[in-house]
Amino acid sequence: MKCVICKHGDTQLSTTTLTLERGGAVVAFKEVPAHVCTNCGEAYVDESVSAKLLGVAEQSIRNGVEIDVRKYAPV
Ligand SMILES: [Zn+2]
Repeated sequence: MKCVICKHGDTQLSTTTLTLERGGAVVAFKEVPAHVCTNCGEAYVDESVSAKLLGVAEQSIRNGVEIDVRKYAPV
C-alpha cells in the first residue's frame, strides 16, 4: 500500500502505539498491528482493529479510567 501522507513510501506490516482520547481520558494501546510507512513512519491501523480498540477504551473510560496504557490483545 502506498503511503498517503508522504506519497513516496510503501507500508509494511509492523506494530504501533495507538492513543485514543475521549472527553479528557486517554487510553493507549501498545503493539497494535499496523501498516507502517517505511519512509515517514505513518501508521495505518485496520478499521476493524481500531473499532475494537475504541470499544475497549470506552469501556475503560466508563469504569472511571483517566489514563490507561495497555498491550494490544487480539481476540
Ligand atoms: Zn509515508
